[in-house]
Amino acid sequence: MKFDELSSNVLISGGGPVGMTLAYSLALKGISVRVIESAAGCIEDMRASTFHPPTIEMMEALGLREELEAQSLRAPIYQYGNLLDQTFYSLDMSELSEVTPYPYRMQCEQYKLTRLIAEKLNALPNAEVLFSHRVSKFEQASNAVQVAVESPYDIRLFHADYLVGADGGNSTVRKWLNTGFNGFTYPESFLTLSTAYPIEQHLPWLQQINYVTDKPNWWVLLRVPGLWRVLVPQQVDTPDSDVTSDLNKDALFSALLDTNESIKTIHRTCYRVHQRVAKTFRRGRVLLAGDAAHLNNPLGGFGMNSGIHDAMNLSEKLAQIYFDNGNADELLDKYDRQRRTVTNEFVQKQTIANKRAFEDALSAREALMEMLTKDANARQSYMLEQAMFTSLDRAAAIE
Ligand SMILES: Cc1cc2nc3c(=O)[nH]c(=O)nc-3n(C[C@H](O)[C@H](O)[C@H](O)COP(=O)(O)OP(=O)(O)OC[C@H]3O[C@@H](n4cnc5c(N)ncnc54)[C@H](O)[C@@H]3O)c2cc1C
Repeated sequence: MKFDELSSNVLISGGGPVGMTLAYSLALKGISVRVIESAAGCIEDMRASTFHPPTIEMMEALGLREELEAQSLRAPIYQYGNLLDQTFYSLDMSELSEVTPYPYRMQCEQYKLTRLIAEKLNALPNAEVLFSHRVSKFEQASNAVQVAVESPYDIRLFHADYLVGADGGNSTVRKWLNTGFNGFTYPESFLTLSTAYPIEQHLPWLQQINYVTDKPNWWVLLRVPGLWRVLVPQQVDTPDSDVTSDLNKDALFSALLDTNESIKTIHRTCYRVHQRVAKTFRRGRVLLAGDAAHLNNPLGGFGMNSGIHDAMNLSEKLAQIYFDNGNADELLDKYDRQRRTVTNEFVQKQTIANKRAFEDALSAREALMEMLTKDANARQSYMLEQAMFTSLDRAAAIE
């Protein structure tokens, strides 16, 4: 194993949940790894907060589950609702208890995962995280990749057998690979608000996870420890400063909670949302994972989860290359095939459908929910799909 100031087996651009999970999984297997993260520390943003059961199983395999659970909530029930006629349908993941030891969504903000892993990586002899460092360029030869990394003080050249771009939707690595990033951007933006205010006092029907509509508006209401998160679409031509203003925040809470109270928020962020997939997740010794490889809307909580599934798949392939004499070309092409296929066939398709379900006639969702209420087999299939088990089974079946 090579690991010195400038070289490692694997170099990862981006220390978000995907880059960190990949790094930790590789380091535990004995592969040396360096994470280059442009931010000064683990970014505390209000994006992913849902870990689906197979991802919880992966956290258990990495020895991280217990520490994450201690900072999380368990949400076995998710609910769809029509606020106009107060009709609600809930699905209880406890029904999956024969399939998984973790039949619930673990509600845990993504920065809790990155912080936990960053601490652990820096304590390992074969891993390092460099914050305030940015991958700016790379060149690959047949036996190695040379990566230019910029810090506040210098630019240095690092060397690795493999470079992984886990540097998010705006990935520098993907742009240099010139893979294209086809798809589309939604015409609306998504506002997320978080508040410690007990909104359940106004909404007696509330579960921990709720997808509800009062057409044409729709809302996602999620519980995380100590906070409610509210996600609501906004007109894209409204400036971000108006979307996140007190005026808009008060109008939204007044519409949702029927109150004139000015509700204090902890975060207010406006996101543009895309459905895009890179044409390939691999070129030579350079790989893409997570948002760098694929973007989707947050309805269903698939973005980070599918990125973590990329990371776990890729770390297995790299371990086979290093320790089982695996054929690198075959294994890395297989990573690309398996993960890109499920991204297109499942993650993209399902997230687009999850958003359409808010926009189509309410009767369509209600008919589906009525059917699921009556049919236990169909209900289990639906929950296995939404919990991402189906996508992992599909990936595993791809040669
Ligand atoms: C409102 C919202 C809610 C969401 N909710 C969920 C959810 O509940 N569940 C779910 O699964 N997903 C959710 N997602 C999606 C999820 O947040 C992303 O899929 C996830 O963050 C992707 O992780 P990543 O590590 O690939 O990328 P990122 O989290 O974007 O991390 C990339 C990292 O790379 C760093 N970086 C960028 N460029 C460079 C460079 N050149 N050099 C070095 N470092 C660099 C960045 O600073 C960043 O830390 C949500 C998204 C949004 C917008």
